[in-house]
Amino acid sequence: MKSFLIVLACVLSQTLAVAQVDTTQRVAPNRKNSPEQQQKPYVILISADGFRYDYADKYQAKNLLALREQGVQAESMVPAFPTKTFPNHYSIVTGLYPAHHGLVNNYFYDPQRKESYSMRERSKVEDGRWYGGTPLWVLAEQQQMLSASFFWVGSEAPIQGILPTYHYQYSEVMPMEKRIQTVVDWLNLPEERRPHLITFYLPEVDHAGHRYGPDAPETKQAVQELDTHMKQLTDAVATTGLPVNFIFVSDHGMLHIDTENTLPLPAAIDTAKFMVSGGGMVVELHAKNKKAIRSTYRQLKEEATKYQVYRKKNMPRHLRYGKKDDRYGRIGDILLLSDAPKVFHFSSRKPSPGTHGYDACQVKEMHATFYAWGPAFRKGVKVPTFENVEVYPLIAKLLGLTFDHKIDGKGKLLKEVL
Ligand code: AMP
Ligand code: ZN
Ligand code: ZN
Repeated sequence: MKSFLIVLACVLSQTLAVAQVDTTQRVAPNRKNSPEQQQKPYVILISADGFRYDYADKYQAKNLLALREQGVQAESMVPAFPTKTFPNHYSIVTGLYPAHHGLVNNYFYDPQRKESYSMRERSKVEDGRWYGGTPLWVLAEQQQMLSASFFWVGSEAPIQGILPTYHYQYSEVMPMEKRIQTVVDWLNLPEERRPHLITFYLPEVDHAGHRYGPDAPETKQAVQELDTHMKQLTDAVATTGLPVNFIFVSDHGMLHIDTENTLPLPAAIDTAKFMVSGGGMVVELHAKNKKAIRSTYRQLKEEATKYQVYRKKNMPRHLRYGKKDDRYGRIGDILLLSDAPKVFHFSSRKPSPGTHGYDACQVKEMHATFYAWGPAFRKGVKVPTFENVEVYPLIAKLLGLTFDHKIDGKGKLLKEVL
């Protein structure tokens, strides 16, 4: 009887969890492409979370290998620091480094607002005030070009008051067939209502990489399943006969970490004096009283083994994560960066074997993927490694969208790939 009740409770809680997710399409009313925008081509921006730069070759993802042969492939793409999901997805669509767009991590503390952001809290994820920059879909909608999102970080929040014309609340319960059919349905809408920019996001490879590690057979299987979905998506889109350009990216890679000897919170940190945020490879300390910074920093510096200690003002410049870059005041006063493959870990549960977050300039396994194909792209071209902030000017160019705000991408990719 007792076990029956436990099973019943589990089934009920799962049903409730599913029921809480809104799986209906959200449509902004009364939007139309301008006649000029109706002449433009189409872009589908796909992100496979945690799809490390070498996965397609390592696991023989035959469809992706064939698709990239018809277009462009980068040696790899460099994610911004920290190499986490939310900061990097949002860098890709804004052309800005995390400290410049404000989404500095998946979870972070904002001392001015005296409030934390969390990717797990709907109220935060859907609150446009957390998000800086001008995401590509906002740029498009501002220029009377319609956009659609089958998930992307930021796409569920009105940013500068604007949501994509078509979007969904993030959920992992929707079958892939339905998601692909929705993309095809969007492309079959009458010209006035047809989106020209579509974002599409897949979490499964990241999940497998965390749970089993980047070298595990389960991760191989996740890569191959995703590869099959890419074939289904491209075949389905081909039936529309439209000039669609595909850009396949990921946000970061994956590393097998040391799960046996993790780093505890250093004893020198007095939690009465500091707000501690983060964990894993980046721990950030926000001083409640700035006077505490110097002595704690000194003590940590003396004690530190297997991790580096920085004050915000002396963070390595290439990380773009120090005082000079901190536009939103969300970076900690003191930062602890673990040396790969070490992680900070504050719970008694053993951490999962795979993770990401390290400086991509030091840890190649953090590098991400970039492939692109379609009528606008050169064929059979391999380009050297570049930063993910370069994707923004590329897509703006493809869609003929103009912008005059400053971004971090330099636009140097355009000549090489188009
Ligand atoms: P991490 O690997 O810790 O950087 O985070 C990856 C996780 O982000 C994925 O497993 C997804 O569950 C989650 N995620 C991605 N996009 C969204 C979104 N739009 N809203 C909420 N969670 C998301
Ligand atoms: Zn990710
Ligand atoms: Zn991840």
